[in-house]
Amino acid sequence: PTMAHSQPLLVLENFIGGKFVPCSSYIDSYNPSTGDVYCRVPDSGKEEVEAAVKAAKDAFPVWSSKGPLERSQILNKLADLIEHDLEAFAQAESKDQGKTITFARTVDIPRAVHNLRFFASSILHHVTECTEMPAVGCVHYTSRAPVGVAGLISPWNLPLYLLTWKIAPAIACGNTVVAKPSEMTSVTAWMMCKLLEKAGVPPGVVNVVFGTGAKAGEALVCHPDVPLISFTGSTLTAQRITERSAPHCKRLSLELGGKNPAIIFDDADLSQCIPTTVRSSFANQGEICLCTSRIFVQRGIYSEFLKRFVAEAKKWKTGNPSDPTVDVGALISKEHLEKVRNYVKKAQAEGARVLCGEGVDPLALPPGNQKGYFMLPTVIAEVKDESCCMQEEIFGPVTCVVAFDTEEEVIKRANGVKYGLAATVWSGNVGRVHRVAHRLQSGLVWTNCWLVRDLNLPFGGMKASGIGREGAKDSYEFFTEVKTITIKH
Ligand code: NAD
Repeated sequence: PTMAHSQPLLVLENFIGGKFVPCSSYIDSYNPSTGDVYCRVPDSGKEEVEAAVKAAKDAFPVWSSKGPLERSQILNKLADLIEHDLEAFAQAESKDQGKTITFARTVDIPRAVHNLRFFASSILHHVTECTEMPAVGCVHYTSRAPVGVAGLISPWNLPLYLLTWKIAPAIACGNTVVAKPSEMTSVTAWMMCKLLEKAGVPPGVVNVVFGTGAKAGEALVCHPDVPLISFTGSTLTAQRITERSAPHCKRLSLELGGKNPAIIFDDADLSQCIPTTVRSSFANQGEICLCTSRIFVQRGIYSEFLKRFVAEAKKWKTGNPSDPTVDVGALISKEHLEKVRNYVKKAQAEGARVLCGEGVDPLALPPGNQKGYFMLPTVIAEVKDESCCMQEEIFGPVTCVVAFDTEEEVIKRANGVKYGLAATVWSGNVGRVHRVAHRLQSGLVWTNCWLVRDLNLPFGGMKASGIGREGAKDSYEFFTEVKTITIKH
């Protein structure tokens, strides 16, 4: 890799107990759209995690005893400060992650702001339960209290968006946190730390330790004073976290990968379905856990769908993420790009047809982006259900299209993977939509739309896609400990 000599390297520091602290060793972080090292991220380990957990533990008694209103005001203030710097955050997220500036501006950062405001508001509206037993002269009620120091581990695909989705409910409920963002996308978390004091977040309430999963992540997972871990990332890492945390019986929330189907019946409105399914396949370079990667199309409309879908996919422009006309930016890393490309090669070797994108169409990149990790939106047809491209999460701009005949058959095939995160169903028949939605093994089912979210409702996956749900009520329950109290009068 070449170094970006023209600009000094950005050097991040851990944020512990309200202070920025340098680290003794650092990891190089790449700009995915140029291939240059442009930033150095602390390579934290046990020692740094220990200091952060201590700071969080020390801050807990005061923070947890504040009322929800005070915490809510602080979260709102933080949201305002991030929103005020929205453009700077969006530029940083795009540069660090490879995503388009348009996506960072319209999705990542606005949603991070919304996460903070949403939990600032929802924390004010929870009520606890009360029951009476007049026959024995008793009244029962529940009380909820924050758990303690929460360990928050987030991935690289939606960096600030997913980090705030955890920090907001954790601190709104009165916990203090130690967060570990992905070592590949740490910049916006570090920028947020600079705003915490001004927002009124007391020192030690939010600590951020940067570094790798194997070192910093595991130190957090194994720390005896961190009773709960909220993790978003891959299924493989979740298995490791489960193992490592087992001796401590930690409370885990695991939001994991997917292999999300789109089921398109012959009565679907294709004028809506096609652009939405192109978006659900390729948005954020296909690097969203909710992206569609298996498209089942009813046989009668299969060839028409394929023709129109490929034509629409080809309209998506791949290139410099900071160009506002670009739809597809760079993938996160060289290794990830190789991995995604290999899936396309494997599909070809198995006899599948690549209809557009990788290896089929030319990819013209601006001079400054020649070493970036780019790949065209790729559509593969005639893939067997048992092929790795139909079974494994690819997490890139690749989608497979196959034909089906009956409702019964497609439900079985859609459920025939280890994952169960999200599905879309396209049909004008309301009865069918309900029937299919009920039978899909999937934590989220969108019909005739995609990625329309109400944060009040549970989010999460079935099977290998996760354990637990996040949302207004679900996150509140995860980040608090409930107690049942009985009073005899
Ligand atoms: P990953 O599992 O490699 O890493 C996620 C985070 O875990 C990173 O911060 C990493 O440093 C850390 N980590 C790695 N090993 C660890 C260990 N042994 N102990 C503790 N922490 C460790 O995932 P990724 O590649 O960063 O993200 C992509 C994955 O995330 C995909 O599978 C995607 O589907 C999933 N994802 C899921 C959701 C969801 O809400 N379900 C959302 C976004 C991404």
